[in-house]
Amino acid sequence: LALKYKGSEYTVWAEFIELAAKYHPLNLGQGFADFAAPGHVTRCLADVALSDDQPLLQQYSRGYGHVRLVSALSKIYSPLVGRELDSRKELITTAGAYEALFCAIFGHVNPGDEVILIEPFFDCYEPMVRAAGGKPVCIPLRPVETIGSVSSKDWKLNFEELESAFTKSTKLFILNTPHNPTGKVFTADELENIAFLCKKWNVLLLADEVYEWMVYQPAKHIRMCTLPGMWERTITVGSAGKTFSVTGWKIGWAYGPENLVKNMQVVHQNNVNSVNTVAQEAVARSLEYELARIDSPDCYLVSLARDLKGKRDILVKTIMETGMVPTIPEGGYFMLVDWSPLAYKVKLDDEPDTHKDFKFAKWMTKNVKIQGIPPSAFYSFPHKELGGNYVRYCFIKVSFIRAIRVGLNW
Ligand code: PMP
Ligand code: GLN
Repeated sequence: LALKYKGSEYTVWAEFIELAAKYHPLNLGQGFADFAAPGHVTRCLADVALSDDQPLLQQYSRGYGHVRLVSALSKIYSPLVGRELDSRKELITTAGAYEALFCAIFGHVNPGDEVILIEPFFDCYEPMVRAAGGKPVCIPLRPVETIGSVSSKDWKLNFEELESAFTKSTKLFILNTPHNPTGKVFTADELENIAFLCKKWNVLLLADEVYEWMVYQPAKHIRMCTLPGMWERTITVGSAGKTFSVTGWKIGWAYGPENLVKNMQVVHQNNVNSVNTVAQEAVARSLEYELARIDSPDCYLVSLARDLKGKRDILVKTIMETGMVPTIPEGGYFMLVDWSPLAYKVKLDDEPDTHKDFKFAKWMTKNVKIQGIPPSAFYSFPHKELGGNYVRYCFIKVSFIRAIRVGLNW
């Protein structure tokens, strides 16, 4: 194994996908929908796949992004970011948001550069930064004391801790809002604090906004690139997999100023070069369809959040009935749950893992047949204990609603 990947051999996904295949639990682990994607979206894919009048749709497309898709993305995002996005220069399409993150990190991080990550973080950020030669500097969100229920907005950064993470070696700040795994939707004040420090230290910002359409009122998604002085230094990442509940299509994108997108293009052209034309064309047509009904309550970009809010509330109620404590998410489709009130029921010692959230998540998968993800996978080594009392459940799945109906024994 190349040295740059030494220490990154383990991934929670490979292990927990295996466990799910072996023990057949109710799978609330990896984040994906277990119901049919919107009909117009799959129909677009079928139409494109079968089209013999446009044979070139079965061939390579423009490397930096299929033209119809980057134009549709420009139409979607231009009004949201308050500027006319140049579809050829300020947008790039990628193999899922994963590849957009990879291109942004590899296109900007040099050996020795520091990259600030907010913990818990989507786990791939850390190995990508390390492989690029960068040094992750991790600052944790901490749940503040609350009376009554806990919301993801109660998970906060300490400003002094945030400020102390910046040094003259800081190159990049990675921000994920809405946040996986807490569901936090960063507020204007919180974003302004981060923006202030990025400008002060001349730092780039990578905004992972793949859950942008899944925000539950009264929370409001604010795009970091729209804050004063932030467009110039921000790359924003999105995902068709999350937008249309088609994670298997692996189409993602990024937008930002031309000079930063150019750097991503260089990584992309030396990596995969171009991504699946058929899926890009289908995503483009699907976005055009949504654009035509953008103000309708049926628009999938709006109806998905409505549907998810209902599911979120059902999961919150179910979790509370077990005695566990949910952090009620304001966005995304994950929920962090404090399982420690159930610890007396669980034989943690049956599992040899070091971290108790791994012991809990594995024991539950095997014995209770409910799978969640242990969140210490989303913390750097020195901070893994902060995830110890939690498990992450994904609530987009219809299987859990069905399971609740027949009676779930947590
Ligand atoms: N960022 C976050 C925060 C995620 O949760 C995920 C998982 N889907 C990704 C990026 C990767 O998205 P994609 O499936 O489009 O590669
Ligand atoms: N984003 C999804 C999750 O957090 C899938 C992650 C993955 O497959 N690596 O569960």
